[in-house]
Amino acid sequence: MTSTEPIVIVGAGLAGATAAQTLRAEGHDGPIVVIGDEPERPYWRPPLSKGLLAGFAQPEHIAVAAESSWAERHIELRTGIGVRELDPGTRTLDLDDGSRLRYHRLLLATGGRARRVPGMDGARTLRTQAEALALREELAGKPSLLVIGAGLIGLEVAATARSLGCEVTVLEMSGVPLARIAPPWLGGVYATLHRSNGVDLHLGVRLSEVTETADGVVATAEDGRSWSAEVAVAALGMVPETELAVRAGLAVQGGIVVDELCRTSAPGIFAAGDVTSQSHPLLGGRYRIEHYSNAMEQASAAARNLLGIETPYTPVPSSTSEQYGVQLAVCGWPAAADVFDERGHTLRGEPAELDFSALFWKGDRLVGAACVGRSEEFERLRGMIADQPSMDDVLASL
Ligand SMILES: Cc1cc2nc3c(=O)[nH]c(=O)nc-3n(C[C@H](O)[C@H](O)[C@H](O)COP(=O)(O)OP(=O)(O)OC[C@H]3O[C@@H](n4cnc5c(N)ncnc54)[C@H](O)[C@@H]3O)c2cc1C
Repeated sequence: MTSTEPIVIVGAGLAGATAAQTLRAEGHDGPIVVIGDEPERPYWRPPLSKGLLAGFAQPEHIAVAAESSWAERHIELRTGIGVRELDPGTRTLDLDDGSRLRYHRLLLATGGRARRVPGMDGARTLRTQAEALALREELAGKPSLLVIGAGLIGLEVAATARSLGCEVTVLEMSGVPLARIAPPWLGGVYATLHRSNGVDLHLGVRLSEVTETADGVVATAEDGRSWSAEVAVAALGMVPETELAVRAGLAVQGGIVVDELCRTSAPGIFAAGDVTSQSHPLLGGRYRIEHYSNAMEQASAAARNLLGIETPYTPVPSSTSEQYGVQLAVCGWPAAADVFDERGHTLRGEPAELDFSALFWKGDRLVGAACVGRSEEFERLRGMIADQPSMDDVLASL
């Protein structure tokens, strides 16, 4: 590919950084500009609720690439500056500092921001390194902590805060934790895990507001109950950062619509990572995958496609979480199983001992797996799930 104008990547997160490095690894020798509105160089977000929050890891440990690697690879990394407008017709970007940049090809890797709910101004959120460091400083004083939301990030924050000696209360709207990614019985295993580690977990709580008080915060439920603590964190999921794409007229359906080659609806513009809306292979419609493996794998594929090296991307979602030293790993599409409850899976191992795998079936085909404490078995299942193998083949191979 020859052009004097650069390939521009908007978003200096994991997807943006991976795409830039892949472009060079594939031999592209033209200019590459990566623009990110956070002040830091690209960093890993998973440690924000684990090692960085606990204080085991420092910001320099979670960088996606060494500081020197950007200059060595002649990648212009511009941090602390946002892209305000995109004009696909003239292939130009307007930046926050008033400057204008033309691009030859563009990758949108704008990720997302923490979901904020009206009336919950008293709660902090956790999406950025700056937010994690601010929360870490507060947790060092061992305050009582309210965590709102028992999804993966909320539960990780709760586990980390317990390890630091904080009193932790978790409030969740659903009847079980992890309702978005796991069947109710598996959420129940995590409810037990947290309660046995001293978390005061309340399920089925519909909050109406979280407000600041003189000595902390108070969360009030619609039914009148209330909980107070010194600090509150709302872990209510992510909102994809699609405004730039929407204003530029790109197709957006819960995320920036991309095809198998990571192309958006506008010529020359690709997208990758948390912000994308991809076709669901089993349920129809579209979905977003908010895990780091997708950010990396889709960004690598997007970079190759951007260079004209055709690389279809058909992901198998995969996520991991560590709480109290227990590993949870989920892959595939458990919610696409015929029955997403006690009957819809094959269980191997013992949930009470936190050592088991649950295999989820659609007909007799494997469509999802969740493993607790079984990393080798998880890797084997993750490796085979793309082909949706039959029950006989799967069980014979384990
Ligand atoms: C606390 C936490 C814990 C997590 N733990 C795990 C885990 O254990 N396992 C797992 O698989 N995943 C985990 N994730 C999710 C994982 O981190 C994400 O899937 C991944 O970071 C997505 O990368 P991305 O590059 O697509 O988006 P992002 O990381 O969101 O990066 C996008 C970047 O683009 C910037 N940007 C947006 N708009 C503009 C603009 N207009 N101009 C310039 N810059 C812009 C944003 O500020 C951001 O820096 C976790 C996430 C969080 C927040």
